[in-house]
Amino acid sequence: MAKAFTTVTWLSAARVLAVLSGLVVTGCAEDLPPAAAPAAASEALTAHSAEFRKSIVEVVPGVHVAIGYALANVIMIEGDDGVIIVDTTESLAAAREVVAAFDLVTDKPVVAIIYTHNHTDHIFGAAAFAQGRDVPVYAHATTWSHIERIMNVLRPVIETRSFRMFGNYLAAGGEAVINDGIGPALAHSPGVDRDLFGLLQPTHTFQDRLDVTIAGRRLVLIHAPGETDDQILVWLPEERVLLPGDNVYKAFPNLYTIRGTRYRDVMQWAESVRAMRGLGAEHLVPSHTRPVSGAAAIDDILEAYSDAIQYVHDQTVRGINQGVDALTLAASIELPPELAAHPWLQPFYGTVPWSVRAIHSGYLGWFDGNSSNLFPTPATTRAQRLLDLAGGEAVVLAEVEARLAADPQWAAELADLVLAANRDSVPIAAELKAQALRTLASGTPNPNARNWYLTEALELEDKVKVAPSPLTAERVEFARGFPVAGVLQTMAVSLDPARSAGIDQRVVFVFPDQGVRYAIHVRNQLAAIERLSGVPGEDQLTVTVDASDWLDLVSGQRGFPLALADGTLQVSGGLADKGALLQFLALFRQDQ
Ligand SMILES: [Zn+2]
Repeated sequence: MAKAFTTVTWLSAARVLAVLSGLVVTGCAEDLPPAAAPAAASEALTAHSAEFRKSIVEVVPGVHVAIGYALANVIMIEGDDGVIIVDTTESLAAAREVVAAFDLVTDKPVVAIIYTHNHTDHIFGAAAFAQGRDVPVYAHATTWSHIERIMNVLRPVIETRSFRMFGNYLAAGGEAVINDGIGPALAHSPGVDRDLFGLLQPTHTFQDRLDVTIAGRRLVLIHAPGETDDQILVWLPEERVLLPGDNVYKAFPNLYTIRGTRYRDVMQWAESVRAMRGLGAEHLVPSHTRPVSGAAAIDDILEAYSDAIQYVHDQTVRGINQGVDALTLAASIELPPELAAHPWLQPFYGTVPWSVRAIHSGYLGWFDGNSSNLFPTPATTRAQRLLDLAGGEAVVLAEVEARLAADPQWAAELADLVLAANRDSVPIAAELKAQALRTLASGTPNPNARNWYLTEALELEDKVKVAPSPLTAERVEFARGFPVAGVLQTMAVSLDPARSAGIDQRVVFVFPDQGVRYAIHVRNQLAAIERLSGVPGEDQLTVTVDASDWLDLVSGQRGFPLALADGTLQVSGGLADKGALLQFLALFRQDQ
């Protein structure tokens, strides 16, 4: 956003205005909350980086873990005539680095890959380990369906929010990530998809438990729903080595992730961690942060971890039943002192307040029980009225400035009022809010919050523009491996309701390469997607196109008119009217 004048000049004017209107606002030092200890918070986060010093650690003979190469660890289990790889990092490039490091340990070939769950930081580097060979890939029976959802309708927003949370834009704005709490950084630069996608589809899946011997190593894979519903743990009974995936790492668990997620069933997570105690592990090798050895130490960690989750859950539900709202609960629930002090429960990834709010809305949804919030005043109107009541933007902005140092949270919230009111002083409010966010960033030990504060500050200052990755050739290539249904669903949520008003049109799509047929029926300003089983009637306008080509067309890699001309896209049935088809497709275009 363009700045019409400098902050200093404007703020001086604001003060003058405030004085003239008789509403002199000063620092009001008497009611300020105690100042945070920013140095201690960022020092704690900086010290946490020691978790991610780049290294290959041998946990027991033949079990190695690569730490600090990517957001997630890679664990290599050496067998008689080959190695098993557990988790593969978030990018081919990062995985190749791990391959090179493991090559110094052994030259045995990779004979199996195991995914502990579907998150991208565990699956995208697989091809670097398989190196073109047919390597069995083990995962839970539901993992692939979760991976298909990577391509889902929420990709744009989840991607931009992930970039804010992991701090991928900080460098572009002259800032630095300290660490990402569970790893040094997400090894993925926005918009750079080269050497990113090396995903392999699981070939060996199971529901509850799978006992298997690979290269002479006995492994037990056990379904352990927690951070994700498809989470599995890997247990080496002979060596008593436990790989808990992402259900345990050295930070308070991310019971809610601020990049956005459906409700995670936290008690299921606690129970899965509790069940691990029964195994009697002597070595714990998480997929993030460093391994731990010693049965007593591991049991202590697993008890503290599961108890912390249950404590937050139970106290939230207790508060819910007493009718307490989410924000009040979030501000009041704290871990018992012995858990709060536990080194594995520090807020370097999840936090207690975010968890409380997630559990509250997981059980009750958004309504807080207050009638005023059933159909509240729209945010812009509310902000404008509050500003007027407070004496105008000038008064509020002067208060923002006065609170910047001692209460940056309140300063940011007041600046939000001016931003939401959408009046002339938006650029100044943006600049002041950015200052408040930088102060908040320096006062938190939580990297997700820090990264988000700093990224939003850069966005407010117009220094970066956080956006979903463009559909690069690599990305389109990656999407080819997925069912075309996902592309059609994405079309449905892209439909322009204004342009489709009054239209009732049904077009059949035949995708020979995937052997499926769908109809898209635009009616009532929506696009209903129907999977067809029979052959469409001749009276239906029918498009025949390979799903692979369709992806090129809807992603803008190729133009529709040319595809119609060269036969890539064939139209038949009905009036076979190409003009009508192009008009129909234009309903889904975003560029008008
Ligand atoms: Zn992970």
